[in-house]
Amino acid sequence: METKDMKLTIGHLYPDLLNLYGDRGNIACLMKRCIWRGIEAETIEFNTGDQIDFSKLDIVLLGGGSDREQAIVCKSLLEIQSEFKDYVEDGGVVIAVCGGYQLLGKYYKTDAGMIEGLNLVDIYTEQEEGRLIDNIVLDSELVDMPVVGFENHGGRTYLNGNKPFGKVLYGAGNDGKSGYEGVVYKNVIGTYLHGPLLPKNPQVSDYLIRKALERKYGGEVILTPLDDSQEKEANDYIYHRFVKE
Ligand code: GLN
Repeated sequence: METKDMKLTIGHLYPDLLNLYGDRGNIACLMKRCIWRGIEAETIEFNTGDQIDFSKLDIVLLGGGSDREQAIVCKSLLEIQSEFKDYVEDGGVVIAVCGGYQLLGKYYKTDAGMIEGLNLVDIYTEQEEGRLIDNIVLDSELVDMPVVGFENHGGRTYLNGNKPFGKVLYGAGNDGKSGYEGVVYKNVIGTYLHGPLLPKNPQVSDYLIRKALERKYGGEVILTPLDDSQEKEANDYIYHRFVKE
């Protein structure tokens, strides 16, 4: 299907609290990759307390946050839980990073107390000793290229049988033990790969754009290829540096 005349609306949830490591870069990447293909794109930022009409949104981004910010933002998230759940169950596209990923689940238990999650995906997170901080490389079924990034989290996430985002080739992943990273549920991706996840992994960016367009317009969408040679070169470098010496 031709993507000309199509339009996507991205909802950036609570950047006033969840915006660790420049999550806005992920929004810029989604926007640019749409615009370069002639797909109209707009982003609406919702700060805590704002009304959100999920029926107007095609992609939702939940960014990372410190434990403190997560404990505050959780109250606002719980107020929109049922609309957010309907959006997810209806195939709405979500990319949730780090603190946002943890909040997709039932709860995040920290030494300071319990943070209630959105319960959109049947997963849970518990803080354990030491932080998992390193580069990370994954093999994900969703894309051909390895997924590369950086992780920094104290929480360990347990999937309760849900599908992971990828198999860890280098790094710690969800809990440092299972060998898996992130979660995929319907059109939701949750991941610990923060910062420039999408600019570094254009294929993940395009996966989200394609899923959102297919949900909105129906049928199979084939995106015009873009010149990702620099990203591929960087990806290859990281893969060989950390996975295959
Ligand atoms: N506060 C959470 C943790 O430390 C998530 C941190 C983050 O978003 N990087 O596990």
